[in-house]
Amino acid sequence: MGWKQRMLIAFFRVLDGLRLIKPVMGFVGRWAPVYSQKGRCVWPYIKRRRNANVHLLAYHRVSDACDSFLPPMSIKMFETQMAYLATYCNVLNLDEAVERIKAQDVPDDAVVVTFDDGYADNYIHAFPILKRLSIPATIFLPTDVIGTGRILWHDQVFSALSNSKVPLIEGFPENGSRFPLRTLQDKRRAQDSISLYFRSLDVPRRCHEIKRLFGLLAFSMNLESSRVYLDWSEVKAMQSHGIGFGSHSVSHPILSFLSETEAREEILESKRLMEKMLGIRVKSFAYPSGRRQDFSETTKALLRESGYECAVSMIHGTNSVGTDLFEMRRTQYQDGNPHMFGARLTYYKCTS
Ligand SMILES: [Zn+2]
Repeated sequence: MGWKQRMLIAFFRVLDGLRLIKPVMGFVGRWAPVYSQKGRCVWPYIKRRRNANVHLLAYHRVSDACDSFLPPMSIKMFETQMAYLATYCNVLNLDEAVERIKAQDVPDDAVVVTFDDGYADNYIHAFPILKRLSIPATIFLPTDVIGTGRILWHDQVFSALSNSKVPLIEGFPENGSRFPLRTLQDKRRAQDSISLYFRSLDVPRRCHEIKRLFGLLAFSMNLESSRVYLDWSEVKAMQSHGIGFGSHSVSHPILSFLSETEAREEILESKRLMEKMLGIRVKSFAYPSGRRQDFSETTKALLRESGYECAVSMIHGTNSVGTDLFEMRRTQYQDGNPHMFGARLTYYKCTS
């Protein structure tokens, strides 16, 4: 940890001791810095915000499982962050946050907790903490893997690379490509490049290429022992305790690479199945992968046509009146220290 982080933690610890965190958060929520065109803070230095902003937080797996390849957020870190939110923030569910943005009535210190991919540990580890602290959350489900025993394509790729004992693969994805896999760093480098390649493929081609990769890695997926994602009984149990659900497509493709017909199918089918299983209207969608290039204006139009009211991305930032509700911003924090987490939340609230 660098000296700047240590100073920030110390500063927030002092604020906490003086019970000043809430007033400081309230202040930065109502006032924004004034920047020149060159990005320098200039006179009068601060101006009153017209509207408060909503901070959407993104989570995936929450577990103490030992996974050096792609470690999940530890239960302790998650609990620390939730305890901070319960003490100092106004945690809304996503549907309410969207309604408040539309009504230009965003409360101070507004935060929304979201999870992507529907991992079973959301029920096993995160849900008891959310319930105890009365924190609402929204979980985005890729419906193809909920209660079916199937595995999302990116988790198949991670699992194959993580578990393979093969020291090198050559000729994948194309002739001349070469990935050594001797160390964890080698495997992570290979994962970055190979995942990027898989993102660009349509569904049949991706299935074919996953089989080819498994062959090169001498890996086969053990579906018997995998209990990776939520099932519908767990989803319903959480729903009855105020957890909300949105769609994360059917099979987690990169929507901007699909034809309009395929994208419509992913967007509509997941919504239909969730509405049938849960008896609710599904209003929100999370873009798989969620970078700016992973969705398009056509994707947004398809979502609107299909009856969604908002979509969340992984573009960093906060949301307020005027934010495109089909391009909402989210942030992931990896802070286990409550004061560092608080400092970072406050900093981003202040500067966005
Ligand atoms: Zn996802």
